[in-house]
Amino acid sequence: MTPEALRNTHLSYSRLTRFETCPLSYRFHYLDKLEAEPGLPLRFGKAIHAALEVLMKEVLENELTGPLSEDRALEVLREAWAAEALTGVEVFQEALRILREFIVQHGVVDHRTILAVEKEFRLPVGPFTVLGFIDRVDWVDDETIEVIDYKTNHQLFTREEVDTSLQLSLYAVAAKRLWPWAKKVKLTFLMVRHGVRQETTRTEEQLADALAYAETLGQQTETVQEFPARLNSNCSYCDHRRHCPAYADALKGKREFICDNLADLEAVAHEREEVARLAKALYARKEELEDVLKTHLKHQDELVLGGVRYRMFSTTSLAFPLQPTLAVLAEATGRSQEELAEQLGSIDKKALDAELKRLGKTLDRPRVALLKAELEAHADKTHSPRFWAKEVQ
Ligand code: SF4
Repeated sequence: MTPEALRNTHLSYSRLTRFETCPLSYRFHYLDKLEAEPGLPLRFGKAIHAALEVLMKEVLENELTGPLSEDRALEVLREAWAAEALTGVEVFQEALRILREFIVQHGVVDHRTILAVEKEFRLPVGPFTVLGFIDRVDWVDDETIEVIDYKTNHQLFTREEVDTSLQLSLYAVAAKRLWPWAKKVKLTFLMVRHGVRQETTRTEEQLADALAYAETLGQQTETVQEFPARLNSNCSYCDHRRHCPAYADALKGKREFICDNLADLEAVAHEREEVARLAKALYARKEELEDVLKTHLKHQDELVLGGVRYRMFSTTSLAFPLQPTLAVLAEATGRSQEELAEQLGSIDKKALDAELKRLGKTLDRPRVALLKAELEAHADKTHSPRFWAKEVQ
């Protein structure tokens, strides 16, 4: 490709992340300009974003204060639904559930605390301009703003993903330029399916690193000559998967390399990475197929297809509340509750983390960190080996 063909008119987070995730998808989308065919998750996400944008823009523009209206949410969802050509009563119900929970979670909305909705920014990054739109920016106090990005992902992000997200870093730099009075910028992924806020912040050094990384990626997009396919767990949602030979081969389980000497560690690692990439793509495809079967199993008890019987069943997990369990056991065994608690009792880490997080709202960070360290000193630790693999440059 000629340098002219590779030149970016501008950069955006979506452009950068598409290149980073799969250079071939970038080529299809931005260079070959093939028609994208977004799957259901992408169109669903766009419809929810559009509905939330309209609802919050109306609060801002009409200077409203009070709870958001469920009736209005239904109206704007209908418009977004049609625009994205979505179908299916279950998907519609899920969209409505998300909007209703958003309304409940936001309670009384005050237009004075919303600084911007779908705020456009243009950020100079080296020789590039990064163009983007921030879903929402809220006023928190006289020195703090909150940058909010709505996400419709099924899975929550890991702490590492939130703390290193390039998107949030770019938004933080843009927000600092747009609202220079803000000394602090809170960054939040609002996971609307779960009603969970995944929050983080950035130091100046982290922001400088993120900008340098964005510039590096931007330069790469203009200088590379190869755009290899990078199979990943999102291939089944890729809007260019129909054009992608690597995905077609992966679905057929086609392999390129098989190591015939297990003493050759380079070859072992090479095959392991190929299998891992294929496995990700195939596992995602299996989930996609299972979702179709599960939808049908909502309307009938079982399906028998190709000699296989498919059913849904519920699994039960038990949690024993401490006091009543100890009381029953103490009576049955004649032992004291203290003795039994010592033998059987332990506190669930998730519950403890939640309590520490709650305490973090009233105590300062160093005190909570100290308390956590003190508690961890009492914890019984078990170690189990885990395999870890991460691409290095
Ligand atoms: S299907 Fe996967 S490998 Fe193919 S272009 Fe899309 S993201 Fe890349």
